Amino acid sequence: MHDNHDDADYLWPTCVAPNCGRQLWVAEAGRYVCRPCEERANKHLAELGPLFRRLNETATLMRGARRPGGATSGSRTPPIPPRLEVLALTAAGGVATRLRDIEDSWRTALGWTVAPWRGSPLQAVPEHLKFLTNNLPWAVYSYESVGQDIDELRRLHAECTAVAANEHRPGRVSIGRCPNRYDDGALCRADLTATASSHRVHCGTCGARWETLGEWKQLREQQDAVLREDAGVAA
Ligand SMILES: [Zn+2]
Ligand SMILES: [Zn+2]
Repeated sequence: MHDNHDDADYLWPTCVAPNCGRQLWVAEAGRYVCRPCEERANKHLAELGPLFRRLNETATLMRGARRPGGATSGSRTPPIPPRLEVLALTAAGGVATRLRDIEDSWRTALGWTVAPWRGSPLQAVPEHLKFLTNNLPWAVYSYESVGQDIDELRRLHAECTAVAANEHRPGRVSIGRCPNRYDDGALCRADLTATASSHRVHCGTCGARWETLGEWKQLREQQDAVLREDAGVAA
């Protein structure tokens, strides 16, 4: 209780979020962070889901399709040049791990067991976000380290936003040669390009199109087949 206002040494409580430090209102008594900081954290949690899905889609596109039935010998299809920051955020150790670390520290403070295994980052991220959203009201009143955690959410959101914004840069990446065949059986072999923000690939020479992730995988398989064929001819 703030019952000693007359004491000159009394320090009015302030928001514990780094970069805030705002004095708390009387109506905010008992909170560790101020309402605006809580609202920002909620907004970051809500936006991280769609942001992560988009980055994960880009990462999938960059990794290319996995060979069905396991790899044998043969040349590798030229990969899309990896944007390391996308991979760093979407792989283990990225967004999913950093959200799990926050969830685990909240669970520890609550006396609960640590977060259960939730599968791939794509599967785990929405679950972590849900947990953090549901328990944020508890954390702002009862978790003294909540300030550093909402600051970590702010950083994660900023990093994902910056990387996602880069995906809208004009410019295309080279993704190997067109494996399409003309009616006479000749291969097109034109250089194919793609933007990292879309699965759509269009060959400007023969007009072939690959528009879904499934078709993208087919494209990779066709490119692999051509490379194997070329390797066979050369041998
Ligand atoms: Zn604040
Ligand atoms: Zn073509």
